Amino acid sequence: MTPEPPRDCPLCPRLVAYREENRRQNPDWFNGPAPSFGDPDARLLVAGLAPGRTGANRTGRPFTGDGAGWILYQTLTKTGFATGVYDARPGDGLQLVDCMITNAVRCAPPLNKPLPIEEKTCRPFLIDRLTALPRLKVIVTLGDVSRKSVLKALGVPASAMAAGHGVEAKVGPYTLINSYHCSRLNTNTGRLTPEMFEAIFARARAAIEADPV
Ligand code: SF4
Repeated sequence: MTPEPPRDCPLCPRLVAYREENRRQNPDWFNGPAPSFGDPDARLLVAGLAPGRTGANRTGRPFTGDGAGWILYQTLTKTGFATGVYDARPGDGLQLVDCMITNAVRCAPPLNKPLPIEEKTCRPFLIDRLTALPRLKVIVTLGDVSRKSVLKALGVPASAMAAGHGVEAKVGPYTLINSYHCSRLNTNTGRLTPEMFEAIFARARAAIEADPV
């Protein structure tokens, strides 16, 4: 495996069929495994669940083009992990600073719901993504599926860290901080407010600065 799957990764039949259907319907979309985005020397990794059909699956950049990206990139910019102005397209010039964004499952799943077997099949890419970041210190997981997948990728059971927004744990050399996912559903209902989300990344910043080596 490598940190980034090939454009035509064949490993998950259901997701490959969905990708091909999307290609037929929207041939100008990206329609492939969404590559990780950001700084290869990042000390912060943000791990989402899976690309949205009209987000990263359409644009080819994580959290770009659908509702979740607005609050994520705004928060990263506010907390110093991004520069530039997010404009929901890969050419907007936005850059991540000391930060990378990836997904636990790289291909868009129907209804935004990957199957457990798809999480497991894609996990080697996540493992390699983690090991390919030589300075990595802090991982922010967005949502429970991402939290569990990252824990398993680190070789510990999902029970090694409790669920819930703001839960933090030390796993090996890394500090994990879990957040509610920044989906439109969570932000529109007030389950996740901008202040709550910003506090997660302020804590990530503090954890990085507490261990600057
Ligand atoms: S989800 Fe991951 S393992 Fe499955 S087809 Fe996509 S890139 Fe390959």
